[in-house]
Amino acid sequence: MDYDVIIIGAGPGGIYAAYELAKNRPELKIAVFESGKRLDERGCPIDGVKVKSCINCKNCSIMSGFGGAGAFSDGKYNITNDFGGTLHEYVGKEQALELMRYVDGINLAHGGEGTKLYSTADTALKKTCMQNKLKLLDAQVRHLGTDINHVVLERLFDELNDAVDFFFLTPVERVCPIEGGYRVEALNASFTCTRCIVSVGRSGSAWMERTCRRLGIPTQSNRVDIGVRVELPAALFAHLTDELYESKIVYRTEKFEDPVRTFCMNPHGIVVNENTNGIITVNGHSYEDPARKTDNTNFALLVAKHFTEPFSDSNGYGESIARLSNMLGGGVIVQRFGDLMRGRRSTADRIRDGFVTPTLKAEPGDLSLVLPKRILDGIIEMIFALDKIAPGTANDDTLLYGVEVKFYNMQVELVDNLETRHPGLYVIGDGSGVTHSLSHASASGVFVARDILARLA
Ligand SMILES: Cc1cc2nc3c(=O)[nH]c(=O)nc-3n(C[C@H](O)[C@H](O)[C@H](O)COP(=O)(O)OP(=O)(O)OC[C@H]3O[C@@H](n4cnc5c(N)ncnc54)[C@H](O)[C@@H]3O)c2cc1C
Repeated sequence: MDYDVIIIGAGPGGIYAAYELAKNRPELKIAVFESGKRLDERGCPIDGVKVKSCINCKNCSIMSGFGGAGAFSDGKYNITNDFGGTLHEYVGKEQALELMRYVDGINLAHGGEGTKLYSTADTALKKTCMQNKLKLLDAQVRHLGTDINHVVLERLFDELNDAVDFFFLTPVERVCPIEGGYRVEALNASFTCTRCIVSVGRSGSAWMERTCRRLGIPTQSNRVDIGVRVELPAALFAHLTDELYESKIVYRTEKFEDPVRTFCMNPHGIVVNENTNGIITVNGHSYEDPARKTDNTNFALLVAKHFTEPFSDSNGYGESIARLSNMLGGGVIVQRFGDLMRGRRSTADRIRDGFVTPTLKAEPGDLSLVLPKRILDGIIEMIFALDKIAPGTANDDTLLYGVEVKFYNMQVELVDNLETRHPGLYVIGDGSGVTHSLSHASASGVFVARDILARLA
């Protein structure tokens, strides 16, 4: 065999798997194949001057390359079983938390020391939420910030580069079972290994689907979260964000009993475009560096949509809605909450005259022409519920950007050690459908590395 272990994908799942393997057994031959670029070569061409919006690069540097989809993220590592994935269903709640804390320790040792760990334990806000039909989920949150997150990734790469063979700009085409292991085919070459860890994340979802079909691995797909990104003056949410940084708050709508939740909260942050398979959606992040902080806070409000038989293309449904917003606005649409409630589109003048200065250049428009009624009703109800714990949320000038879609990878059938029905072929991170966060994806990498180490012993 060319390698003991081949890892496909250099996102958090792949990185922490490689780290754990190399640290404990430096003599192992490990290769990492990554369709994107090295970290220092990654860069999005949008500069706000020459390139104002997404130009659909063949290889999206936001989603691909060393560090994966999280490389330019806000670097929020949530240590919790309440959200971010269902790793605990495979490895148990205690072990899942231990793995996430272990990853936190690695981050601290690689540049994250001094960053703040927020916690919901003992907060009075929990009661305030409950009194207003809202539920604050339990979590500890390590906020690295976009800049420190980058430093941690740089240091991990420097350390791993000596122990691991990295193949960048090398998308794997096929993984084929062979006697005693696997053949991995990429760019007209093939490499063999005893064990293979697949960690292709969200951007590798179509490839993952094809691979599972070819290898006879069952999958399931039935969930998508759709909503908007809310942007408002940071002062309105300061009592929440100063104490918790990110609060995950859930509301159940009165009309449809749909769960609506806050997601990815960025105090003093910016709203950004995100390109998913050529469709422009919205996201957000924030910097640790005080010089890069804004006066606004942004967060997503998402309505979870679970489909039942016979419909199973939940991601296709989400993509169609996002495409509709792209069709109407040429990209992301922004609307004042007051305009939405008055049933009229926002205009550049109304946005300019408002008290909230947008941090993303988006097309003023009408989100009610894009979002299905049930989802829009849920978002409006949630905004009024949040207004009770953070007065001002339902102000006319609150900005709503749409659409934000949280795609879920299909669920790959795995046994408890995250191995497929093919011995030695593991699927981890967001590509497995088990995780959808930095901490869970990273923890799944460490878990599988330990499983392999135990079998090699
Ligand atoms: C803008 C943004 C902000 C985010 N912020 C946060 C946050 O603050 N906190 C949080 O918990 N989560 C956040 N997330 C989500 C988080 O980044 C992901 O959950 C996490 O990166 C998943 O890790 P992963 O290793 O499973 O997959 P990924 O990070 O997606 O990495 C997969 C890698 O595999 C590569 N790949 C795909 N197919 C192939 C192939 N065929 N061959 C070779 N390589 C391949 C891809 O190029 C990619 O680099 C954010 C995501 C985005 C996009």
